[in-house]
Amino acid sequence: MKKIGALEAGGTKMVLAVYEEDGTELERLTLPTETPEITMPPMIAFFRRHGIDALGVGSFGPLDLNPASPTYGFITSTPKLAWKNYPLLKNLLDGRSIPAGIDTDVNAAIIAEAELGAARGCQNAVYVTIGTGIGGGVYANGQTVHGLLHPEVGHTLLRPHPLDPNPRGVCPYHESCLEGLAAGPAIGARVGGDAKNLPDDHPTFEIEAFYLAQMCVNLITTLSPERIILGGGVMQRSRLFAQVREQTVRLLNGYIQAPAITEHIDEYIVAPQLFPVSGLVGSYLIGKKALEKA
Ligand code: ADP
Ligand code: ZN
Repeated sequence: MKKIGALEAGGTKMVLAVYEEDGTELERLTLPTETPEITMPPMIAFFRRHGIDALGVGSFGPLDLNPASPTYGFITSTPKLAWKNYPLLKNLLDGRSIPAGIDTDVNAAIIAEAELGAARGCQNAVYVTIGTGIGGGVYANGQTVHGLLHPEVGHTLLRPHPLDPNPRGVCPYHESCLEGLAAGPAIGARVGGDAKNLPDDHPTFEIEAFYLAQMCVNLITTLSPERIILGGGVMQRSRLFAQVREQTVRLLNGYIQAPAITEHIDEYIVAPQLFPVSGLVGSYLIGKKALEKA
């Protein structure tokens, strides 16, 4: 049986695994993300030791995902400076020409959720992680969307909440963007502490839900997904789901006449089923697809 290597490359950690073609996981390795000089050699060695036949990668970005580009598979303009313009896919392949594929970490996550998890059976779905940053993976007509580069759902612009003491948000690039207003550090900045330590009934979660609901409205009105999956550290606050669902319906104001939303919002805006390995499983599926295509 052939072996498929998978890497979920994150800003804080790298999770690697080797799978058999049927999805049986053989071994997993987690490493802290340091500089490429420190982190790449043990990753290359891990895949080499297993003699993988294909590789799938889901990575933090921005990434060059255009197969025709000379910098295909590079991490491009990331604020993690050591990884800026880094040929991630090429260096992982270590000179071998095995079938390989790369996508964003959140696109990998939505592939896994659509094939095996909370969006099973959907041809159109979105996965958004709300953690240290916010990123969205878009699955449309059965494929992830790349487009010109790839979607950057975290930097869509929102309307500030009238009671938000920090309506500009904390994104260094944009005034009042989703990530700047609603990622974990934005909540922390708003309350002067760590979002993780707040009580469930803290009023800041109503403001948070208002932003995540605007995001859902914008996704619904632009992409018409069959399901929206919300993951990441902030969504571990499970009470937020009810607040986001309620405010989404309120903001839509009856305009979208779909029973999935008007009657079944609890099954429409949902948690990931494969968390915390959605991205890793998606990376395996990307590698498996590359193998099948070859
Ligand atoms: P990363 O995005 O770095 O992969 P996470 O998805 O775990 O990591 O997100 C970390 C962020 O989520 C931090 O800003 C943290 O404050 C916030 N967070 C983690 N758990 C909770 C929680 N239960 N409630 C609210 N915020 C949380
Ligand atoms: Zn921004």
